[in-house]
Amino acid sequence: MVVKLKELAEKLNSSIEELTGLLKKLEFDYDEKNLEVDVDIAELLEDEIGTTKSDIENLAENIEGTMDREIKKTARKKTAGKTKYVKRNKFDSSLKSEILDVSNSISVKEICEKTGISPAKLIGELMKNGIIANINQSLDIDTAMVILPEFGIKVNRVSETGSTDDLLSRDVNTLIGEEDAENLSERPPIITIMGHVDHGKTKLLDTIRNTNVVAGESGGITQHVAAYQISHNEKKITFIDTPGHEAFTEMRARGAKLTDIAILVVAATEGVKPTTIEAINHAKDAGVPIIVAINKMDLPDANPEKVKNELIEYGLQAEDWGGDTVMVPISALKGDGIDKLLDMILLVSEVEALKANPTRAAIATAVETHQEPGLGPVATIIVNTGTLKMGDIVVLGNSYGKVKAMLDDNGNRVQFAPPSFPVLIAGLSSTPLAGDVLQVCKNDKEAKDRANQISEIRTNERLASKAPLLEIVTKIAKGDLKVLKLIVKTDTKGSFDAIKGSLMKINHEEVMVDIIHHAVGEVSQSDVAMAAAGQSIIIAFHTKTSSDVNKLAEQKGVEIRSYEIIYKLIEDITAFLSGMLDPEEVVTELGKAELRQIFFTKKNEYILGCKITNGIMKKGSTIRVIRDGETVGEAKLDSLRKGNENVTELKAGNECGLKVHFKDTFMEGDLLEAYEVSFVERKLEV
Ligand code: GDP
Repeated sequence: MVVKLKELAEKLNSSIEELTGLLKKLEFDYDEKNLEVDVDIAELLEDEIGTTKSDIENLAENIEGTMDREIKKTARKKTAGKTKYVKRNKFDSSLKSEILDVSNSISVKEICEKTGISPAKLIGELMKNGIIANINQSLDIDTAMVILPEFGIKVNRVSETGSTDDLLSRDVNTLIGEEDAENLSERPPIITIMGHVDHGKTKLLDTIRNTNVVAGESGGITQHVAAYQISHNEKKITFIDTPGHEAFTEMRARGAKLTDIAILVVAATEGVKPTTIEAINHAKDAGVPIIVAINKMDLPDANPEKVKNELIEYGLQAEDWGGDTVMVPISALKGDGIDKLLDMILLVSEVEALKANPTRAAIATAVETHQEPGLGPVATIIVNTGTLKMGDIVVLGNSYGKVKAMLDDNGNRVQFAPPSFPVLIAGLSSTPLAGDVLQVCKNDKEAKDRANQISEIRTNERLASKAPLLEIVTKIAKGDLKVLKLIVKTDTKGSFDAIKGSLMKINHEEVMVDIIHHAVGEVSQSDVAMAAAGQSIIIAFHTKTSSDVNKLAEQKGVEIRSYEIIYKLIEDITAFLSGMLDPEEVVTELGKAELRQIFFTKKNEYILGCKITNGIMKKGSTIRVIRDGETVGEAKLDSLRKGNENVTELKAGNECGLKVHFKDTFMEGDLLEAYEVSFVERKLEV
């Protein structure tokens, strides 16, 4: 529908010339031949949306300052007090969507296409707020958040999809990025149960699940969801339902950080066993707090005091013994002490202040994945942050797809999965790995591209050999202390003590050795898994490694070093640590020259006539420029000439031409001091 400019001019008490001038200025289309304008634009000019003619003119005057920050600020201020959800006005009955996902910015065109708002109205509303925009203008999310509620549209801030590297490294924290504190709310803790075989991990998981299931009928779909959530004291707790620490190790080995608290199950009848120690070392290395559940308290030979006593050696001291580790006596079989254990989980998670932003697009981690007849590839995921919705397009490791089914741990179909919620999802293109990170993408293409990139990188990684040793050196965040993590397996406790004694003597402020686990015996598969998880190397002293274990190490890129003589072991480790030291920077003074004449200058290039007074001048060296006793800058000596001949260096007494690169200006009489910097490897003194 169109409106005649003549009629509009009469109505607005204006003239055709004035209106066409304004329309041109604002880059609005109109029919120049018939002098007609689209009804939307006419409405806009007609002050239908509250802008007076003079306002429009004034704003049009401001075109030069288009999208100027200050103007935007004013716009925000102007609308700041208004309600976010304004009732739609009469023109908005055709809106396509009430919620608009925006990452950092969005164009006017895209907003109109997605929401159904007419471009003229949106541009008008922007103009009203002091923002002069054309259809291709990009608006930042803050502006969109101010303007769109005027049309009854809620702007949903969504995160940009993380880079392939971030997804590959499964570094959920980097993916999550900075979050405004005001968007964060408490989330349920995610718990892994660890401990020695037969100490009661499965029983404990079953007992907790059976006695505390979140009320509700089973959905009747009998998928195994590899994690579940319970309710205790009106708070939720998520348990990863894969007993044993294999799953934890496997996930850690892939870089996933999902567990908030580890429950260490120790049978009161048996006490600390090798896997108990491994579990402790794992949790410590991953920085996860431990709660000890002393199990099988119903049995007559239960001896909790013995367990507490043994745990001290591994750095876990019970609170009632003056330490700070929560230890709860339980019977997973009878259900005794479970409530207390759950209380303690809530208490520890309160201290940990676990938070997430439920309003953003989801980031989640896969706990278990498999191929399911009828559903195709499925994954149990736990949401780290955000809310996963049915229909979201996701990338999950090297697979991607649209979430076409979500099942909770009761087999019920759900539409949303908020933070810490475990769900089984279907709709994936292939089976991802446990530990893979899920992220919501903007569209199918982006998800597919990401998944393909990840798949390609993984294939190349598999083809590539082990990571160089130095890459597994961790840098401790504060300061620059580099740590070489070791797992030490020895024939006897005595040889371990001797090795440890020697290693601990290597005391340097920049590098150190950290023995994350040690035990007597052969190198086992779980040692390899732990080494892969903790990025450490395995030292086998006077002990064997089976070919199966060697093969596994090969696959996982874990280095196993076998030694028969202690001094050779120490020598090697010392050499590694020396290699970890940053090289020393050595400055060698070469010589001095006097600047007699500036022959040529172009931009930062100079040709200088000089007399060498001391030492030598050398091609490639750096030159300190000294004027009146003060260094005024540094230049690069590109080449050196004696007469017509290019030379690499020249001694004192010679007159020469120097071609130098200098950002500043030279003056005749400047003193030039040449020097060289080299890097020398440092050796660790033992
Ligand atoms: P997991 O290997 O750590 O998962 O151990 P399970 O949960 O499979 O338990 C091993 C055995 O110990 C099973 O026969 C359980 O019934 C039993 N068990 C587990 N918890 C208790 C308990 O609190 N008391 C007693 N008496 N037996 C238990």
